[in-house]
Amino acid sequence: LETIRKVDPEAAKAIEQELDRQQFTLELIASENIASPAVMAAQGSVMTNKYAEGYPGHRYYGGCEFVDVAENLARDRAKELFQADYANVQPHSGSQANMGVYFALLEPGDTVLGMDLSHGGHLTHGSPVSFSGRIFNFVHYGVKEETGTIDYDQVRSLAKEHKPKLIVAGASAYPRIIDFPQLEKIAKEAGAYLMVDMAHIAGLVAAGEHPSPLPYADVVTTTTHKTLRGPRGGMILSNKGFGKKLSSQIFPGIQGGPLMHVIAAKAVAFKEALTPEFKAYQQQVVKNAACLAKCLMDNGVDLVSGGTDNHMMLLNLTNLGITGKEAEGLVEQAGITVNKNTIPFDKNGPAVTSGIRVGTPTITSRGMKEPEMELIADCLANVLKNPQDQALIESTRAKVRDLCQSFPIYA
Ligand code: PLP
Repeated sequence: LETIRKVDPEAAKAIEQELDRQQFTLELIASENIASPAVMAAQGSVMTNKYAEGYPGHRYYGGCEFVDVAENLARDRAKELFQADYANVQPHSGSQANMGVYFALLEPGDTVLGMDLSHGGHLTHGSPVSFSGRIFNFVHYGVKEETGTIDYDQVRSLAKEHKPKLIVAGASAYPRIIDFPQLEKIAKEAGAYLMVDMAHIAGLVAAGEHPSPLPYADVVTTTTHKTLRGPRGGMILSNKGFGKKLSSQIFPGIQGGPLMHVIAAKAVAFKEALTPEFKAYQQQVVKNAACLAKCLMDNGVDLVSGGTDNHMMLLNLTNLGITGKEAEGLVEQAGITVNKNTIPFDKNGPAVTSGIRVGTPTITSRGMKEPEMELIADCLANVLKNPQDQALIESTRAKVRDLCQSFPIYA
């Protein structure tokens, strides 16, 4: 930071303030995590200086011998981690990984079946404001109102009716195990490809805490920065022989030079993910989520689907009489960061919503366990149930600060 401060005190100050915010607030955004110092060092390395269009051994630039080593490490470790024959670590983001797959498997205008954004899907699964919904003809499935779980009968009947070329599974806000064998069966019956976007659950999958989609899907995409705890970026995996098509759609299809510093950081993150410590971490992420969910429900907070199987939960605030937007602002005053989120069949739009999404990856990376989950559930539930009580917000803020002090983000 000293180096940055000498050149650019304003940027240095913003970074310092962000570090302070991360240190002294509770980060419950389910898609975030705390990358290790080794991952960050690789990302801040000289590899950022290098152009390396192409793939290892087949570059359009000279001087690529060492970036080739880094990319091969990242690819080989990704393959080992997820038992995949093919790994492409070049996508700059999860969205670009998805775009690369769509361009490899589809033509503009083709029909695709994806999960509704308001039921937990991602923007790139066919939202009209995303490239995906503009270029392809997406039809959407969702969850059952009574259970909050994916309506596989609906997926099957929509697949029969619309004959999609591709079915997209995976979600940004779905707290339950996804039934990949069932989806593979539906895709086969409909003659469709199956793509699983495991961005949220990739770390759980790597550690065996969620079934792997690799045996069932034609292609699997992910981000590397959520539960997987790597640098911000994307990745594509496959076991079904689509490698050549996928590679050419990432480069030169939709990207130019790969971010070699990020790829080096992906290599480091995947090495970390292959350790027993990482497995134990993912187990704790799931245990913490189960504990937080139970304590919230014991405190009178409704959860979509009545709980969680993974790292996240969706709080339905309807009975508490506040919106997701209000709740997000309210808990932020108490030092807790969450994001407002639509719940299935939400009566409010995406800017207001009736829910918030809460996840345990970041707080678990700080070393928090079940006793801290009980405390956090109390803090959250009390503030959500007493939105007018300024004194309570203040005292919660103090508790949160103490807790954060005891679990430093870079111990
Ligand atoms: N897919 C899913 C399921 C996601 O939740 C996200 C991000 O939230 C993405 C894709 C997109 O990732 P990125 O933000 O890196 O483009």
